[in-house]
Amino acid sequence: MAQGRKESSAKIVFIDPAKQRRRRRLVVGALILVCLSGLLYSLLGMGQEGIASVILPADPPRSSEASSTGEEKSMIHQKEDEERLHASGKTCNDALVLVDRSHTLPPDYVPSDLVSLSAYSVPTLGGREMLLRREAAEHLRSLVADAAADGEDLVVASAFRSYEGQKASYGRLKSIYGRGADAMSATPGHSQHQLGTAVDFTNAAADYQIRRGFARTSAYDWLQAHATEYGFALAYPHGKNQTGYYFEPWHYRYIGVENARRLEQSGLTLQGFLVREGVFPDC
Ligand SMILES: [Zn+2]
Repeated sequence: MAQGRKESSAKIVFIDPAKQRRRRRLVVGALILVCLSGLLYSLLGMGQEGIASVILPADPPRSSEASSTGEEKSMIHQKEDEERLHASGKTCNDALVLVDRSHTLPPDYVPSDLVSLSAYSVPTLGGREMLLRREAAEHLRSLVADAAADGEDLVVASAFRSYEGQKASYGRLKSIYGRGADAMSATPGHSQHQLGTAVDFTNAAADYQIRRGFARTSAYDWLQAHATEYGFALAYPHGKNQTGYYFEPWHYRYIGVENARRLEQSGLTLQGFLVREGVFPDC
């Protein structure tokens, strides 16, 4: 019995290592297989994700927005917002941009196509250097020449004013008239003169001043009858204007011939027309 147990135990001792070796080989083989297939799967999987992540943002499915993920949607909307911002960034150069007490031009806005009125044979007060945007200057040249041919004298007393220039101009009025200056002059950033399309007229009959008396000159009557033909509009008319400024018979703004005709046909004031057109300064 004792020998049998020994044999038996020896037999067990003899069998176990062989079984263990086979098991080990099986386990190692299985592990190698698992590792290889896992590696292969993960390589393929990463490849597809890599391709997908390149394709999706570059070509978002616009027509299937409803089935897009939140992340894709926000990317599409972000792109659209950027496009809108880029388009609206040009509005300060638009002939119809609304600039008034509540619509402001940034301090650094200066039109890029300013030209000297002296180069366009437009008389200026004291022969001073004055600037206007090219298209406005071209039309002003024709307006002044045709007015002169009709015996009307027109001199430009003020044209483009920079933000800083407007600040100085408003400051001078403020020091004289206090609060009253607000109805006479725009605060910096709120002046049509910063657009480079507005002019103030005067002449000998108005003593070369910017004053209400200009409305009693024949040159004013001529402007009333003909300014539209040259694309200019009286910005702050008598009585019916909603701008908060007094009647300014001397102040005209160039908006283009076609727009000026549309304005005339509309029966609106320039302010009402610009509000209706809805081009707000964004630059
Ligand atoms: Zn003016």
